[in-house]
Amino acid sequence: MVEKVDVLICGSGSAGLCAATWLARCGIRCKVLERRDGPMTMGQADGVQCRTVEIFESFGIGEELLRESYHVLEVVFWAANGSGDIKRTGRTADTQPGLSHQPHVILNQARINGLFIESMQRFNDQIIDYGFDIKNVEVDSSLVNDPQSYPVKVTAEKEGRTEIFEAKYALACDGAHSTVRRSLGYKMIGDSSDAVWGVMDMVPRTDFPDIRKKTTIRSKAGNLLIIPREGDARNLTRFYIELPAGTKAKEVKLEDLQQSARAILSQYRIEFAETVWWSAYAIGQRHADFFHRDYRVFLAGDACHTHSPKAGQGMNVSLQDGYNIGWKLATVLKGLAPPSLLETYVLERQKVAIDLINFDRYFSKLFSSGGQTSPAEFQEGFIKSGKYTAGLTAKYDSSAITFHTEGSEQLSTNIVTGMRLPSSQVVRYCDSKPVQLMTALKSDGRWRVMAFVGDISKSENKSKLNALGNYLSSDESPLHRFRQKDADIDSVIEPILVGYGKRHGIELEEIPEAFHPIAGKNQIKDLHKIYFDDESYNKGHGHVYEYLGISPEKGAVVIVRPDQYVSAVIGLDDYRQIGRFFEGFLIPQGESASPESKL
Ligand SMILES: Cc1cc2nc3c(=O)[nH]c(=O)nc-3n(C[C@H](O)[C@H](O)[C@H](O)COP(=O)(O)OP(=O)(O)OC[C@H]3O[C@@H](n4cnc5c(N)ncnc54)[C@H](O)[C@@H]3O)c2cc1C
Repeated sequence: MVEKVDVLICGSGSAGLCAATWLARCGIRCKVLERRDGPMTMGQADGVQCRTVEIFESFGIGEELLRESYHVLEVVFWAANGSGDIKRTGRTADTQPGLSHQPHVILNQARINGLFIESMQRFNDQIIDYGFDIKNVEVDSSLVNDPQSYPVKVTAEKEGRTEIFEAKYALACDGAHSTVRRSLGYKMIGDSSDAVWGVMDMVPRTDFPDIRKKTTIRSKAGNLLIIPREGDARNLTRFYIELPAGTKAKEVKLEDLQQSARAILSQYRIEFAETVWWSAYAIGQRHADFFHRDYRVFLAGDACHTHSPKAGQGMNVSLQDGYNIGWKLATVLKGLAPPSLLETYVLERQKVAIDLINFDRYFSKLFSSGGQTSPAEFQEGFIKSGKYTAGLTAKYDSSAITFHTEGSEQLSTNIVTGMRLPSSQVVRYCDSKPVQLMTALKSDGRWRVMAFVGDISKSENKSKLNALGNYLSSDESPLHRFRQKDADIDSVIEPILVGYGKRHGIELEEIPEAFHPIAGKNQIKDLHKIYFDDESYNKGHGHVYEYLGISPEKGAVVIVRPDQYVSAVIGLDDYRQIGRFFEGFLIPQGESASPESKL
């Protein structure tokens, strides 16, 4: 029997699980097929960028991640001196202050996957079907123009039985050796000579002084990257060792890795008290030649980009591919936007993949140049790369959902259209709680219209706020036009107000109702959409206007996507542009089902 599904996710690694979590969060059922018999239990990647921690926070699972992980706060650099010994040559903050309110952390990939598996189950009882080996994926191109069709045919085997699935959409999240990619006839392009890396998770017995810090060692005997692992009491540590050119991953033994580590740390004592996982694997710097088939099958994660583990990007970029496509699929399947919204996945993530490969080439060269780069140059290159390795440089090109308006740079000098909105502390008006602005941007599928209206005790700002509030409550408001049938006014687009200055001088009735609408199960006023850039009682002042470069006199309206990327920055007086922006790609609900979209 053929089973029909809206979305079929091939593989339950980082990319597949993140997309499945989004779909579950938005109430969309999907099918996740996984070859393994159960969840991953050990090993592979461990570095979680600041941006990935922000994503976990937005799904409401950031606290677990932060509690269980090692926090990477400092990096230490060691290099060989003239006599061949290694010496400490510098230290720096791992993430330069001000880049993100979240730290870079380390947690094993099995647990990171586990956090997703738990939350998708919590959100929508979404499960994974284990033991399914996907053998083939094909698309019937004659059906792809009908949004209701199931043009993707997936053939899988379980316990010797062949099972067929038909899907509206499929995601190829089946890793570096992707069967889906091969079925579609796509190739990986890029470097053919694969560097081999050894990695081991073990408990070291050593007198090397920086063993509990992220440390890079460039010695005459080779290069070593030390990553302390979660669980302070256990002292688990990861060593990454680049193995000599010509090494074959399959022939590497644990003793080879131990021997290399001893040679690199030769002037220190090192024994391996316990080794819990090790691997040697070859990684080429490559990306797929195509990222989709008829916009019905999308490639994500290692299935479309592979590179070295030096900068700790693999799991993060893969997971962020899933994060990019998940909400878009949910939006289309709910009938809120036409399928052409999905084309922006390819526009945005293909560029990220190519940037990743280029960055990895640069970073690998920096790491491996064996004596050609001085310790000072190496350290400088490492620090300069910090924003990239924190996951904060992705900039999406113009499209219907990324709308570069003239003069937006002057309205907010530290907000870049197409990049994720930076966060600072604000004080919530209803309960005086100091919170990060980003906590207002939960991953729940909604768009946000964020009104930075300046000091509303001033009459000029107040009249601008009232004009905006009246517009957002009017019949022509995009909040009304695109809301889901019978759902709350903020079900698709949520208005948020960020005032400037003393919150205590403002009464709630001075703030337009658009920012405290009646909503929720009990249909009561939602007071959690109003924030002030003000001093908190015990956590200082976030100075968010200054941080974002918004003038308290002029203000600005910032439109933010469901994934916290900035769609547009608009002048307070130009509020009608908000409606024009959403008309570009959202389908008015209750009106014609398929209006002309500008996508
Ligand atoms: C052995 C190994 C060690 C690694 N070590 C590190 C490291 O130390 N540091 C680092 O940064 N990165 C490391 N990586 C890379 C990192 O794990 C990946 O970049 C990241 O997991 C990519 O996520 P993904 O979801 O694209 O793919 P994966 O996490 O590889 O997930 C793919 C999933 O698809 C499943 N699958 C594959 N084929 C099929 C099929 N035909 N049918 C059904 N299911 C299928 C797989 O079982 C797997 O669960 C390692 C990768 C490997 C393979």
